[in-house]
Amino acid sequence: MSKTLQAIRGMNDILPEQTPTWRYLENTLAALLDGYGYKEIRLPILEFTELFARGIGEGTDVVDKEMYTFLDRNEESLTLRPEGTAGCVRAMLEHGLTGGGQVQKLWYAGPMFRYEKPQKGRYRQFHQMGVEVFNLPGPDIDAELIVLTWRLWKKLGLADAVTLQLNSLGSSEARARYRDALVAYLQERYDLLDEDSQRRLTTNPLRILDSKNGGTQALLVDAPTLHDYLDEESVAHFEGLKARLDAVGIRYEINQKLVRGLDYYSRTVFEWVTDKLGSQGTVCAGGRYDGLVTQFGGKPTPGVGYAMGVERLVLLLETLGLVPDELNSPADVYICAFGEAAELAALGLSEQLRDALPDLRLVVNAGAGSFKSQFKKADKSGARYALILGDDELAKRVVGCKPLRDDSEQQSIAWDALAEHLAACLKQA
Ligand code: ATP
Ligand code: MG
Repeated sequence: MSKTLQAIRGMNDILPEQTPTWRYLENTLAALLDGYGYKEIRLPILEFTELFARGIGEGTDVVDKEMYTFLDRNEESLTLRPEGTAGCVRAMLEHGLTGGGQVQKLWYAGPMFRYEKPQKGRYRQFHQMGVEVFNLPGPDIDAELIVLTWRLWKKLGLADAVTLQLNSLGSSEARARYRDALVAYLQERYDLLDEDSQRRLTTNPLRILDSKNGGTQALLVDAPTLHDYLDEESVAHFEGLKARLDAVGIRYEINQKLVRGLDYYSRTVFEWVTDKLGSQGTVCAGGRYDGLVTQFGGKPTPGVGYAMGVERLVLLLETLGLVPDELNSPADVYICAFGEAAELAALGLSEQLRDALPDLRLVVNAGAGSFKSQFKKADKSGARYALILGDDELAKRVVGCKPLRDDSEQQSIAWDALAEHLAACLKQA
Protein backbone atom coordinates (compact mmCIF):
# COMPACT_ATOMS: atom_id res chain seq x y z
CA MET A 1 0.00 0.00 0.00
CA SER A 2 1.32 3.47 -0.75
CA LYS A 3 2.15 5.72 2.18
CA THR A 4 -0.61 8.23 2.94
CA LEU A 5 0.43 11.78 2.22
CA GLN A 6 0.86 14.11 5.13
CA ALA A 7 1.24 17.83 5.58
CA ILE A 8 4.73 19.19 6.16
CA ARG A 9 5.70 19.22 9.83
CA GLY A 10 4.86 22.55 11.43
CA MET A 11 2.42 23.49 8.65
CA ASN A 12 -1.08 23.10 9.95
CA ASP A 13 -4.45 22.59 8.39
CA ILE A 14 -6.94 24.94 9.95
CA LEU A 15 -10.02 22.79 10.07
CA PRO A 16 -13.65 23.93 9.74
CA GLU A 17 -14.21 23.69 13.48
CA GLN A 18 -11.38 26.18 14.03
CA THR A 19 -11.98 28.67 11.24
CA PRO A 20 -14.84 30.50 13.02
CA THR A 21 -12.41 31.49 15.78
CA TRP A 22 -9.87 32.65 13.22
CA ARG A 23 -12.45 34.73 11.41
CA TYR A 24 -13.71 36.18 14.68
CA LEU A 25 -10.20 37.31 15.57
CA GLU A 26 -9.37 38.60 12.09
CA ASN A 27 -12.69 40.39 11.66
CA THR A 28 -12.50 41.98 15.10
CA LEU A 29 -9.03 43.35 14.44
CA ALA A 30 -9.85 44.43 10.88
CA ALA A 31 -12.90 46.38 12.09
CA LEU A 32 -10.87 47.99 14.83
CA LEU A 33 -8.08 49.04 12.47
CA ASP A 34 -10.67 50.45 10.11
CA GLY A 35 -12.01 52.50 12.98
CA TYR A 36 -8.56 54.00 13.59
CA GLY A 37 -8.08 54.86 9.90
CA TYR A 38 -5.64 52.11 8.89
CA LYS A 39 -5.75 50.65 5.36
CA GLU A 40 -5.09 47.08 4.34
CA ILE A 41 -2.18 46.14 2.08
CA ARG A 42 -1.73 42.70 0.49
CA LEU A 43 1.78 41.63 -0.36
CA PRO A 44 3.37 38.65 -2.13
CA ILE A 45 4.33 35.63 -0.11
CA LEU A 46 7.52 35.15 -2.13
CA GLU A 47 10.21 37.80 -2.44
CA PHE A 48 13.81 37.89 -3.60
CA THR A 49 16.02 36.48 -0.84
CA GLU A 50 18.09 39.64 -0.86
CA LEU A 51 15.13 41.62 0.50
CA PHE A 52 15.20 39.74 3.77
CA ALA A 53 18.96 39.43 3.95
CA ARG A 54 19.19 43.22 3.67
CA GLY A 55 16.06 44.13 5.58
CA ILE A 56 16.17 41.76 8.52
CA GLY A 57 19.92 41.46 8.62
CA GLU A 58 22.55 38.76 8.56
CA GLY A 59 23.32 37.55 12.06
CA THR A 60 19.67 37.27 13.03
CA ASP A 61 18.17 33.87 13.68
CA VAL A 62 15.53 34.48 11.04
CA VAL A 63 18.01 35.07 8.23
CA ASP A 64 20.73 32.67 9.36
CA LYS A 65 18.64 29.68 10.32
CA GLU A 66 14.95 30.03 9.64
CA MET A 67 14.31 31.02 6.04
CA TYR A 68 12.76 28.83 3.38
CA THR A 69 15.00 29.74 0.48
CA PHE A 70 15.23 28.08 -2.93
CA LEU A 71 16.22 28.70 -6.51
CA ASP A 72 13.36 29.01 -8.97
CA ARG A 73 13.48 27.64 -12.51
CA ASN A 74 15.28 30.77 -13.55
CA GLU A 75 18.00 30.22 -10.91
CA GLU A 76 16.87 33.22 -8.89
CA SER A 77 17.05 32.93 -5.13
CA LEU A 78 13.60 33.37 -3.64
CA THR A 79 12.40 33.17 -0.05
CA LEU A 80 9.01 32.52 1.49
CA ARG A 81 8.45 35.59 3.61
CA PRO A 82 9.38 35.06 7.27
CA GLU A 83 7.73 38.36 8.30
CA GLY A 84 5.82 41.23 6.75
CA THR A 85 7.74 44.42 7.36
CA ALA A 86 10.49 44.02 4.75
CA GLY A 87 7.98 43.34 1.96
CA CYS A 88 5.87 46.27 3.07
CA VAL A 89 8.82 48.65 2.93
CA ARG A 90 9.76 47.28 -0.48
CA ALA A 91 6.23 47.98 -1.72
CA MET A 92 6.29 51.53 -0.31
CA LEU A 93 9.51 52.30 -2.17
CA GLU A 94 8.49 50.56 -5.37
CA HIS A 95 5.24 52.53 -5.58
CA GLY A 96 6.60 55.78 -4.20
CA LEU A 97 4.09 55.76 -1.35
CA THR A 98 6.31 57.23 1.36
CA GLY A 99 8.03 59.91 -0.74
CA GLY A 100 7.64 63.57 0.27
CA GLY A 101 6.80 62.62 3.83
CA GLN A 102 3.48 60.94 2.92
CA VAL A 103 1.99 59.32 5.96
CA GLN A 104 0.93 55.69 5.55
CA LYS A 105 -0.99 53.70 8.14
CA LEU A 106 -1.22 50.14 6.94
CA TRP A 107 -2.13 46.66 8.07
CA TYR A 108 -1.69 43.21 6.60
CA ALA A 109 -2.54 39.64 7.45
CA GLY A 110 -1.33 36.33 6.17
CA PRO A 111 0.99 33.34 6.43
CA MET A 112 4.68 33.61 7.30
CA PHE A 113 7.29 30.86 7.06
CA ARG A 114 10.18 30.03 9.35
CA TYR A 115 12.14 26.84 9.67
CA GLU A 116 11.84 26.46 13.45
CA LYS A 117 11.38 23.57 15.81
CA PRO A 118 7.61 23.02 15.79
CA GLN A 119 5.91 23.00 19.18
CA LYS A 120 2.83 24.48 20.79
CA GLY A 121 2.61 28.10 19.64
CA ARG A 122 5.56 27.76 17.26
CA TYR A 123 5.06 26.51 13.72
CA ARG A 124 6.80 26.62 10.36
CA GLN A 125 3.85 28.17 8.61
CA PHE A 126 2.15 30.60 10.96
CA HIS A 127 0.01 33.67 10.55
CA GLN A 128 0.49 37.24 11.52
CA MET A 129 -1.64 40.32 11.51
CA GLY A 130 0.61 43.33 11.42
CA VAL A 131 0.53 47.10 11.30
CA GLU A 132 3.10 49.47 9.81
CA VAL A 133 3.10 53.28 9.95
CA PHE A 134 5.44 55.48 7.93
CA ASN A 135 6.54 59.08 8.27
CA LEU A 136 5.36 59.72 11.79
CA PRO A 137 8.43 60.10 14.01
CA GLY A 138 6.85 60.98 17.36
CA PRO A 139 5.83 58.93 20.38
CA ASP A 140 2.16 59.75 19.73
CA ILE A 141 1.94 57.10 17.02
CA ASP A 142 3.94 54.55 19.03
CA ALA A 143 1.34 55.08 21.74
CA GLU A 144 -1.54 54.74 19.28
CA LEU A 145 -0.29 51.35 18.11
CA ILE A 146 -0.17 50.12 21.69
CA VAL A 147 -3.55 51.63 22.54
CA LEU A 148 -5.02 49.89 19.52
CA THR A 149 -3.78 46.47 20.61
CA TRP A 150 -4.97 47.16 24.14
CA ARG A 151 -8.45 47.87 22.76
CA LEU A 152 -8.30 44.57 20.88
CA TRP A 153 -7.47 42.72 24.11
CA LYS A 154 -10.41 44.38 25.81
CA LYS A 155 -12.77 43.44 22.96
CA LEU A 156 -11.60 39.84 23.04
CA GLY A 157 -11.72 39.59 26.85
CA LEU A 158 -7.93 39.15 27.04
CA ALA A 159 -7.05 42.34 28.93
CA ASP A 160 -6.21 40.49 32.14
CA ALA A 161 -4.30 37.74 30.37
CA VAL A 162 -1.58 39.85 28.75
CA THR A 163 1.02 42.30 30.03
CA LEU A 164 2.99 44.93 28.18
CA GLN A 165 6.79 44.89 28.19
CA LEU A 166 8.37 48.11 27.03
CA ASN A 167 11.85 49.31 26.21
CA SER A 168 13.75 51.93 24.27
CA LEU A 169 16.81 50.96 22.26
CA GLY A 170 17.79 54.57 21.63
CA SER A 171 19.09 55.93 18.36
CA SER A 172 21.20 53.61 16.24
CA GLU A 173 24.30 55.54 17.40
CA ALA A 174 23.38 55.11 21.06
CA ARG A 175 22.67 51.48 20.44
CA ALA A 176 26.05 51.04 18.76
CA ARG A 177 27.82 52.66 21.74
CA TYR A 178 25.97 50.37 24.09
CA ARG A 179 26.75 47.37 21.91
CA ASP A 180 30.47 48.19 22.13
CA ALA A 181 30.32 48.47 25.92
CA LEU A 182 28.39 45.22 26.22
CA VAL A 183 30.78 43.39 23.91
CA ALA A 184 33.81 44.68 25.85
CA TYR A 185 32.24 43.51 29.11
CA LEU A 186 31.32 40.07 27.78
CA GLN A 187 34.57 39.59 25.91
CA GLU A 188 36.38 39.59 29.25
CA ARG A 189 34.04 36.83 30.40
CA TYR A 190 33.95 34.95 27.12
CA ASP A 191 34.63 31.52 28.58
CA LEU A 192 31.66 31.82 30.90
CA LEU A 193 29.19 32.43 28.09
CA ASP A 194 27.04 29.66 26.63
CA GLU A 195 27.90 28.55 23.12
CA ASP A 196 25.05 30.42 21.40
CA SER A 197 26.00 33.63 23.15
CA GLN A 198 29.66 33.22 22.20
CA ARG A 199 28.56 33.08 18.58
CA ARG A 200 26.24 36.04 19.01
CA LEU A 201 29.00 38.13 20.52
CA THR A 202 30.24 38.72 16.99
CA THR A 203 26.99 38.37 15.03
CA ASN A 204 24.26 40.00 17.14
CA PRO A 205 25.47 40.80 20.66
CA LEU A 206 22.31 42.53 21.91
CA ARG A 207 20.50 39.28 21.40
CA ILE A 208 22.59 37.82 24.25
CA LEU A 209 20.48 39.89 26.64
CA ASP A 210 17.52 37.58 26.17
CA SER A 211 19.53 34.37 26.38
CA LYS A 212 17.67 31.66 28.26
CA ASN A 213 20.95 30.32 29.71
CA GLY A 214 21.18 30.69 33.50
CA GLY A 215 24.95 31.19 33.57
CA THR A 216 24.78 33.87 30.89
CA GLN A 217 21.93 35.63 32.69
CA ALA A 218 23.98 35.65 35.90
CA LEU A 219 26.85 37.33 34.03
CA LEU A 220 24.47 39.97 32.74
CA VAL A 221 23.48 41.18 36.19
CA ASP A 222 26.52 43.45 36.38
CA ALA A 223 26.75 44.21 32.66
CA PRO A 224 26.35 47.79 31.39
CA THR A 225 22.66 48.71 31.11
CA LEU A 226 21.16 50.00 27.93
CA HIS A 227 19.41 53.00 29.42
CA ASP A 228 22.71 54.49 30.62
CA TYR A 229 23.58 54.90 26.94
CA LEU A 230 20.35 56.39 25.61
CA ASP A 231 20.64 59.68 23.75
CA GLU A 232 18.64 62.66 24.96
CA GLU A 233 16.13 62.64 22.13
CA SER A 234 15.37 58.97 22.65
CA VAL A 235 14.88 59.60 26.36
CA ALA A 236 12.38 62.35 25.55
CA HIS A 237 10.65 60.09 23.02
CA PHE A 238 10.37 57.32 25.59
CA GLU A 239 9.02 59.72 28.22
CA GLY A 240 6.43 60.93 25.69
CA LEU A 241 5.31 57.38 25.05
CA LYS A 242 5.05 56.50 28.74
CA ALA A 243 3.09 59.68 29.49
CA ARG A 244 0.51 58.70 26.85
CA LEU A 245 0.19 55.15 28.11
CA ASP A 246 -0.24 56.52 31.63
CA ALA A 247 -2.90 58.92 30.37
CA VAL A 248 -5.10 56.10 29.06
CA GLY A 249 -4.27 53.81 31.97
CA ILE A 250 -2.23 51.13 30.19
CA ARG A 251 0.14 49.42 32.60
CA TYR A 252 3.60 48.41 31.40
CA GLU A 253 6.76 46.91 32.68
CA ILE A 254 10.06 48.37 31.54
CA ASN A 255 12.36 45.60 30.46
CA GLN A 256 15.82 46.77 29.48
CA LYS A 257 16.66 43.32 28.17
CA LEU A 258 13.91 43.41 25.58
CA VAL A 259 15.84 43.95 22.35
CA ARG A 260 13.84 42.00 19.72
CA GLY A 261 15.47 39.66 17.27
CA LEU A 262 15.41 41.83 14.20
CA ASP A 263 18.15 44.26 13.38
CA TYR A 264 16.17 47.20 12.23
CA TYR A 265 14.60 48.41 15.46
CA SER A 266 15.46 51.71 17.10
CA ARG A 267 13.91 53.54 20.05
CA THR A 268 10.59 51.96 21.05
CA VAL A 269 10.27 48.20 21.27
CA PHE A 270 7.46 46.35 22.97
CA GLU A 271 5.89 42.95 23.46
CA TRP A 272 2.54 41.82 24.78
CA VAL A 273 3.16 38.66 26.75
CA THR A 274 0.93 36.07 28.39
CA ASP A 275 1.81 33.46 31.00
CA LYS A 276 -1.05 31.22 29.85
CA LEU A 277 0.68 29.54 26.89
CA GLY A 278 3.90 28.18 28.35
CA SER A 279 7.14 29.33 26.79
CA GLN A 280 5.60 30.68 23.56
CA GLY A 281 4.13 33.60 25.48
CA THR A 282 4.64 36.60 23.20
CA VAL A 283 1.42 37.27 21.30
CA CYS A 284 2.33 40.62 19.78
CA ALA A 285 5.66 42.29 19.22
CA GLY A 286 6.91 45.38 17.52
CA GLY A 287 8.73 48.63 17.61
CA ARG A 288 10.19 51.54 15.75
CA TYR A 289 12.47 51.02 12.76
CA ASP A 290 13.50 54.49 11.63
CA GLY A 291 16.60 53.10 9.90
CA LEU A 292 14.99 50.44 7.76
CA VAL A 293 13.92 52.43 4.71
CA THR A 294 17.43 53.84 4.20
CA GLN A 295 18.76 50.30 4.49
CA PHE A 296 16.75 49.61 1.32
CA GLY A 297 18.17 52.67 -0.38
CA GLY A 298 15.21 54.97 0.32
CA LYS A 299 15.25 58.44 1.89
CA PRO A 300 15.19 58.55 5.70
CA THR A 301 11.63 57.57 6.63
CA PRO A 302 10.44 56.97 10.17
CA GLY A 303 8.58 53.71 10.60
CA VAL A 304 6.91 51.86 13.43
CA GLY A 305 4.90 48.67 13.52
CA TYR A 306 4.10 45.38 15.14
CA ALA A 307 2.94 41.89 14.32
CA MET A 308 0.70 39.61 16.30
CA GLY A 309 0.78 35.83 16.14
CA VAL A 310 -2.67 34.61 15.14
CA GLU A 311 -2.11 30.97 16.22
CA ARG A 312 -1.03 32.07 19.69
CA LEU A 313 -4.04 34.35 20.07
CA VAL A 314 -6.41 31.61 18.91
CA LEU A 315 -4.79 29.25 21.44
CA LEU A 316 -5.19 31.87 24.13
CA LEU A 317 -8.88 32.41 23.33
CA GLU A 318 -9.44 28.65 23.40
CA THR A 319 -7.41 28.11 26.58
CA LEU A 320 -9.36 30.79 28.41
CA GLY A 321 -12.74 29.70 27.03
CA LEU A 322 -13.27 33.04 25.32
CA VAL A 323 -14.54 31.80 21.96
CA PRO A 324 -18.11 33.13 21.75
CA ASP A 325 -20.71 30.34 21.49
CA GLU A 326 -22.61 32.00 18.69
CA LEU A 327 -19.62 31.54 16.34
CA ASN A 328 -20.64 27.94 15.92
CA SER A 329 -24.36 28.51 15.67
CA PRO A 330 -26.06 26.20 13.18
CA ALA A 331 -28.33 27.06 10.27
CA ASP A 332 -31.76 28.57 10.87
CA VAL A 333 -33.72 26.37 8.50
CA TYR A 334 -33.31 22.97 6.82
CA ILE A 335 -35.50 22.10 3.85
CA CYS A 336 -36.55 18.46 3.26
CA ALA A 337 -38.18 17.54 -0.04
CA PHE A 338 -39.57 14.19 -1.18
CA GLY A 339 -39.75 13.28 -4.85
CA GLU A 340 -38.42 14.99 -7.91
CA ALA A 341 -41.20 17.57 -8.31
CA ALA A 342 -40.93 18.58 -4.65
CA GLU A 343 -37.15 18.88 -4.93
CA LEU A 344 -37.51 21.29 -7.84
CA ALA A 345 -40.08 23.34 -5.94
CA ALA A 346 -37.87 23.34 -2.82
CA LEU A 347 -34.95 24.73 -4.78
CA GLY A 348 -37.10 27.55 -6.23
CA LEU A 349 -38.59 28.27 -2.83
CA SER A 350 -35.21 28.35 -1.10
CA GLU A 351 -33.87 30.89 -3.58
CA GLN A 352 -36.98 33.08 -3.05
CA LEU A 353 -36.40 32.88 0.69
CA ARG A 354 -32.77 33.95 0.27
CA ASP A 355 -33.95 36.93 -1.80
CA ALA A 356 -36.50 37.94 0.81
CA LEU A 357 -34.31 37.27 3.86
CA PRO A 358 -30.66 37.91 2.94
CA ASP A 359 -29.39 36.98 6.41
CA LEU A 360 -31.27 33.68 6.49
CA ARG A 361 -29.06 30.64 6.98
CA LEU A 362 -30.74 27.92 5.01
CA VAL A 363 -29.61 24.41 4.18
CA VAL A 364 -31.34 22.51 1.38
CA ASN A 365 -31.24 18.74 1.80
CA ALA A 366 -29.00 17.18 -0.83
CA GLY A 367 -28.92 13.51 -1.74
CA ALA A 368 -32.68 12.86 -1.45
CA GLY A 369 -33.56 10.13 1.11
CA SER A 370 -36.60 8.87 2.98
CA PHE A 371 -38.67 11.09 5.24
CA LYS A 372 -36.99 9.56 8.26
CA SER A 373 -33.44 10.04 7.04
CA GLN A 374 -33.99 13.62 5.88
CA PHE A 375 -35.69 14.55 9.10
CA LYS A 376 -32.80 13.07 11.05
CA LYS A 377 -30.33 15.14 9.03
CA ALA A 378 -32.41 18.25 9.67
CA ASP A 379 -32.35 17.58 13.39
CA LYS A 380 -28.64 16.78 13.44
CA SER A 381 -27.84 19.97 11.53
CA GLY A 382 -28.90 21.95 14.58
CA ALA A 383 -31.33 24.05 12.51
CA ARG A 384 -34.20 25.60 14.38
CA TYR A 385 -36.87 24.78 11.78
CA ALA A 386 -37.40 22.04 9.24
CA LEU A 387 -39.44 22.87 6.16
CA ILE A 388 -41.17 19.85 4.69
CA LEU A 389 -42.26 19.55 1.10
CA GLY A 390 -43.89 16.39 -0.32
CA ASP A 391 -46.57 15.69 -2.93
CA ASP A 392 -49.45 16.82 -0.66
CA GLU A 393 -47.77 20.13 0.16
CA LEU A 394 -46.89 20.63 -3.49
CA ALA A 395 -50.51 20.20 -4.55
CA LYS A 396 -51.69 22.76 -1.97
CA ARG A 397 -48.75 25.14 -2.48
CA VAL A 398 -47.82 25.02 1.21
CA VAL A 399 -44.90 23.73 3.27
CA GLY A 400 -44.86 22.02 6.64
CA CYS A 401 -42.90 24.14 9.09
CA LYS A 402 -41.73 22.08 12.07
CA PRO A 403 -39.92 23.71 15.01
CA LEU A 404 -37.02 21.40 15.88
CA ARG A 405 -35.89 22.85 19.18
CA ASP A 406 -39.13 22.72 21.14
CA ASP A 407 -42.32 20.68 21.21
CA SER A 408 -44.59 23.07 19.31
CA GLU A 409 -46.76 21.68 16.54
CA GLN A 410 -45.91 21.58 12.87
CA GLN A 411 -47.75 24.32 10.95
CA SER A 412 -48.81 24.43 7.34
CA ILE A 413 -47.72 27.71 5.70
CA ALA A 414 -48.61 28.99 2.24
CA TRP A 415 -45.59 29.57 -0.01
CA ASP A 416 -46.17 33.28 -0.38
CA ALA A 417 -46.51 33.76 3.37
CA LEU A 418 -43.42 31.71 4.20
CA ALA A 419 -40.77 34.45 4.24
CA GLU A 420 -42.83 36.58 6.58
CA HIS A 421 -43.62 33.62 8.81
CA LEU A 422 -39.95 32.62 9.12
CA ALA A 423 -38.84 36.19 9.73
CA ALA A 424 -41.30 36.42 12.63
CA CYS A 425 -40.30 33.02 14.06
CA LEU A 426 -36.59 33.75 13.89
CA LYS A 427 -37.00 37.18 15.45
CA GLN A 428 -38.75 35.71 18.45
CA ALA A 429 -35.74 33.73 19.66
P1 ATP B 1 9.80 34.36 19.25
O1 ATP B 1 10.72 35.04 20.20
O2 ATP B 1 8.59 33.76 19.91
O3 ATP B 1 10.48 33.45 18.29
P2 ATP B 1 9.97 36.47 17.32
O4 ATP B 1 10.65 37.56 18.03
O5 ATP B 1 10.73 35.61 16.40
O6 ATP B 1 9.18 35.55 18.38
P3 ATP B 1 8.45 38.25 15.62
O7 ATP B 1 9.31 38.06 14.45
O8 ATP B 1 8.51 39.52 16.34
O9 ATP B 1 8.66 37.02 16.62
O10 ATP B 1 6.94 37.94 15.22
C1 ATP B 1 5.83 38.56 15.88
C2 ATP B 1 4.91 37.55 16.49
O11 ATP B 1 4.62 36.51 15.58
C3 ATP B 1 5.46 36.81 17.69
O12 ATP B 1 5.34 37.59 18.85
C4 ATP B 1 4.59 35.59 17.73
O13 ATP B 1 3.34 35.88 18.33
C5 ATP B 1 4.40 35.29 16.28
N1 ATP B 1 5.35 34.27 15.83
C6 ATP B 1 6.66 34.42 15.50
N2 ATP B 1 7.19 33.26 15.10
C7 ATP B 1 6.20 32.34 15.19
C8 ATP B 1 6.11 30.93 14.90
N3 ATP B 1 7.14 30.25 14.43
N4 ATP B 1 4.92 30.30 15.11
C9 ATP B 1 3.85 30.98 15.57
N5 ATP B 1 3.87 32.30 15.84
C10 ATP B 1 5.03 32.98 15.66
MG1 MG C 1 11.60 33.72 16.57
